[in-house]
Amino acid sequence: KEFAGNCYQLFSSDIENQAVEQIQLENDLFKALQKGNEFELYYQPKFDARTNDLIGMESLIRWNHPELGTLSPGHFIPLAEETGLITLLGEWVIRQACKQMKIWEEAGYTELIISANLSPQQFNQKEIVQVVADILHETDLPPYHLELELTENLIIHNTEQTLKTIGELKGLGIQISIDDFGTGYSSLGYLKDFPVDTLKIDKSFIDDVTTNKKNAAITKTIITLADSLGVNVIAEGVEQAEQAVFLAQHGCHWIQGFYYSQPLPTKTFERHFLKSYSQ
Ligand code: C2E
Ligand code: CA
Ligand code: CA
Ligand code: CA
Repeated sequence: KEFAGNCYQLFSSDIENQAVEQIQLENDLFKALQKGNEFELYYQPKFDARTNDLIGMESLIRWNHPELGTLSPGHFIPLAEETGLITLLGEWVIRQACKQMKIWEEAGYTELIISANLSPQQFNQKEIVQVVADILHETDLPPYHLELELTENLIIHNTEQTLKTIGELKGLGIQISIDDFGTGYSSLGYLKDFPVDTLKIDKSFIDDVTTNKKNAAITKTIITLADSLGVNVIAEGVEQAEQAVFLAQHGCHWIQGFYYSQPLPTKTFERHFLKSYSQ
């Protein structure tokens, strides 16, 4: 009994500490958004699975917190979503990605596609299409350079409005991909209505794709599905050469993961993957 009591106390003070930390972090997030210079985009390269050519990069946000150091999105994106700050933060991400891509396009990288992750709240804000249109205009980036990664769960809900928004975003000339594809509890029926450009096979299928028959079958099926729909397909979370070989052999178009590179800060990315910067 005494033991259980102690456990409970430990547990309750843990929860209190957590709550205090959350509130502190929420405050910091609010302040950081006003200052604007604590956030940074890292870029993870994407490659053609057959030729190994660089085809683009995914933008992944980091927060350089003055006391806590570099924070991964898992530490603050959920908080930004709960508090509604994600709208502002997400807008910063799209703007930053477009600014960076404009610089690279002017340096001669006219074929690369930069992607940004869009959270459901951000996608569902009324002004999202206008926000993206304004950013494209302001940064003077040709729209085909920008891709937005949406999660499947977002597409399942609120179908009519979602369809309209995706149509309008596509109308701007940008690309839409479905992130973490295969993990949502959805029927595939929506795919015939939604004008998406790319399916991104979730890492959970790729992890053991060379040893688990079921995940191999799912992966092959998604690739076939993409081909018959006439959309692109990319695998995320590729960590081993054997996975890359499997994916190339089965006709996966594009590929991304630690096997090729972690997400990198701008300068490091340029040095490693953009020839004209590496001299
Ligand atoms: P995601 O969109 O599925 O992004 C992929 C995550 O997996 C990234 O983590 C990336 O660093 C990691 N990753 C990539 N390749 C590998 C690999 O081979 N092995 C392993 N173990 N991991 C790999 P990160 O950067 O921590 O981002 C986590 C999640 O946070 C993202 O998942 C995305 O949902 C969200 N996120 C990141 N940046 C943004 C953003 O700007 N806006 C929004 N709304 N969400 C973001
Ligand atoms: Ca993503
Ligand atoms: Ca993903
Ligand atoms: Ca994932």
